[in-house]
Amino acid sequence: MTAQNAKISLTGVGKTFPVRGGGVFTALSGIDLDVAEGEFLVVVGPSGCGKSTLLDLIGGLARPTAGRVAIDGVEVTGPALDRAVVFQQYALLPWRTALRNVEFGLEAKGLRRRERTEIARHHLDLVGLSGFEDRYPHELSGGMKQRVAIARSLAHDPGVLLMDEPFAALDAQTRDTLQDELLRIWATTGKTVVFITHGIDEAVYLGGRVAVLTSRPGRVKEIVDIDLGPRDEREDLRSSPAFAEHRHRVWSLLKDELPKDEVRAAQRPAVPAPREEAAARG
Ligand code: ADP
Ligand code: MG
Repeated sequence: MTAQNAKISLTGVGKTFPVRGGGVFTALSGIDLDVAEGEFLVVVGPSGCGKSTLLDLIGGLARPTAGRVAIDGVEVTGPALDRAVVFQQYALLPWRTALRNVEFGLEAKGLRRRERTEIARHHLDLVGLSGFEDRYPHELSGGMKQRVAIARSLAHDPGVLLMDEPFAALDAQTRDTLQDELLRIWATTGKTVVFITHGIDEAVYLGGRVAVLTSRPGRVKEIVDIDLGPRDEREDLRSSPAFAEHRHRVWSLLKDELPKDEVRAAQRPAVPAPREEAAARG
């Protein structure tokens, strides 16, 4: 892939922040990264390595201090409706129902009420929330709120979906379910997804490629191709030998970047001991 035909292209991207009292803090440095149209790219790295900063730059919420970010070959200079961002916090309007939250973003588009409602209903259905249109955020679980937030992002029909640890606040069971839902939505809509996480399992399960960032300043350490074979709903992919191998690969790259306590957190559920892993491979 060349920068010309990439959906998202970062070339020599760096980001510094001014430090109070003088000087600068380098959050990101020398990032070269191309994301193909329709790709599901996961970015994983220790906390504070610049993952959110990277997503802000792609979203146009911040400008790089070095290099260039482009979408479809056009330099990103600000936010636009062709890129939607989903954050860890759902940021729903509490006084609006699920349906009206999804409609909210469409109001600026000058669509008629009926058209807005139709689009919003379709997207609530896509995220599995048919029948919950009239619930208020406080009447929904965390997972359902995040589904509404995803529906709201997709309602604009953006080419690019940017997700910043969207499932980090959810319990493990809900997270697993939403990961499957997201893969299904991605497969049906063909969006280009950049998904940030600090969880290795999540990265390996979701990503077609996983970009591992170094700790401060964030650089791309390596990009790991993930090939877990065909996904069969009856099989537990997460306990397959291929999954263990990829997880070990990403973990090996990441472990030198993490403080010791984070190595333990990131590896949950535990990376198999070398002996188990050899047995799984054999
Ligand atoms: P991550 O998402 O990987 O945890 P962030 O991108 O949020 O990391 O932050 C990377 C580094 O940049 C952190 O050390 C953070 O404190 C710093 N940083 C982020 N935004 C700003 C800002 N607006 N001003 C100053 N420093 C910032
Ligand atoms: Mg972050």
